[in-house]
Amino acid sequence: MAYEKNDVVTVLIEDMGNEGEGIGKIDGYTIFIKDGVMGDVIEAKIMKVKKNYAYGKLLRIIEKSPYRVEPRCTVHRQCGGCQIQALSYEMQLKFKENKVKNHLLRIGKFSYDEIEKSKEEMIGMDEPYYYRNKAQFPVGRDKHGKIITGFFAGRTHTIIPNKNCCLGIKENEQILEIIIKHMERYQIVPYDEYTKKGLVRHILIRYGFSTGELMVCLILNGRKEQFTCLTKMIEDLCTIKGMASICVNRNEENTNVILGKEIQVLWGKGYITDKIHGMTFRISPLSFYQVNPLQTEKLYEKVLEYGDLKGNENVWDLYCGIGTISLFLSKKAGKVYGVEVIPQAIKDAKKNAIINDVHNAEFFVGKAEEFLPEYNKKYGEKADIIVVDPPRKGCQKELLETIVHMKPDRLVYVSCDSSTLARDLRFLCDRGFELKRWVCVDMFGMTVHVETVVLIQRKDT
Ligand code: SAH
Repeated sequence: MAYEKNDVVTVLIEDMGNEGEGIGKIDGYTIFIKDGVMGDVIEAKIMKVKKNYAYGKLLRIIEKSPYRVEPRCTVHRQCGGCQIQALSYEMQLKFKENKVKNHLLRIGKFSYDEIEKSKEEMIGMDEPYYYRNKAQFPVGRDKHGKIITGFFAGRTHTIIPNKNCCLGIKENEQILEIIIKHMERYQIVPYDEYTKKGLVRHILIRYGFSTGELMVCLILNGRKEQFTCLTKMIEDLCTIKGMASICVNRNEENTNVILGKEIQVLWGKGYITDKIHGMTFRISPLSFYQVNPLQTEKLYEKVLEYGDLKGNENVWDLYCGIGTISLFLSKKAGKVYGVEVIPQAIKDAKKNAIINDVHNAEFFVGKAEEFLPEYNKKYGEKADIIVVDPPRKGCQKELLETIVHMKPDRLVYVSCDSSTLARDLRFLCDRGFELKRWVCVDMFGMTVHVETVVLIQRKDT
């Protein structure tokens, strides 16, 4: 059946796609409708027609899905931060686990039985709101010229004003108000992506959930001296309970990358600390740190469980960030090696080893896919257990080849993108490993993202 742009249709949302979009079918013809929730019967306007599918816009809900809930946020439809806030949390978990299963099945080519047999019960959050310890707010102007901050709308760089996102901490609002008011008062210009002019690009806020320490980092397209009466603003920010670090980051590049390479501390320490499972971690503005500390603890416990350490193993923690997993595992391992590409993060990792009295961990700056093959060639170091926790694009082939060559007994794969996870697992399972156990941990309630921990084992061990 062919549709034309602007046709209005009534359709049942039968499923939801990987980006959380509703999927309806009319006579086998697929329509993708953003904000449609599985189980809704809706009226939609056709916006774009392709040969076998179309995109529609939700006009009206005719019959509400039993899985539909009232979102807490008033801008949840416009804002790109959340995708599935209108879906009940219980169904969000099912949706995410299904997504991982589908990737393992379709991309990983694992059999349905293999996937089901090795699956463990998904670890959801007790409180799926207010969990984020970090937020990066872009600064700009609305169409009346007023300075605004909030989040980008999905797939665009239009700022949806929002100072009190309900995924983040309540202190965000107060901090943002101080900065925006100061900018208005002293006519400090927000950065404009089109003209590449203006000073203030982003405001980064970080919070240590277990220490109450706050960090504010201003990302500037220029020098801190261009920010009028900076000392006054610092004074105002210092009145907020927990303020521990105020810094600036200079980013004059014309890119989507938020942070530049250079950090200058304006007040307090150049980092904040947080605790996971009794271990203290120091976190610098440029270092990666998991955004949901409560779930991180559960995630790391799984890594430890899957690692099944006896006390004398050589463990490699690739993509180690500030060394959290390495140090978490170090107490039960013989020796732990961490590799990470960001020098500042490795500096943190080394400090973190000292703070936590860990003496059997060594950290290296480098790209995992370059460092490990070279190190292995030079020293032929044995690996009993390898942990990888790569960014969304997954592991490079050179790294996977080296892992196969190093013949670890077990590999624990921590992944924030199940499609690249499935691809990499297939590569390894075609070369001597087998899928043993896997579990999803929800670190990102209200969004379509999901973390997965997988244990694969060498068959000949
Ligand atoms: N395991 C850590 C960090 C995981 S995030 C934790 O749980 O906190 C992924 C990390 O990989 C980031 O710190 C990022 O800087 C780093 N990274 C990205 N590409 C890399 C590469 N090619 N080699 C090594 N590290 C890389």
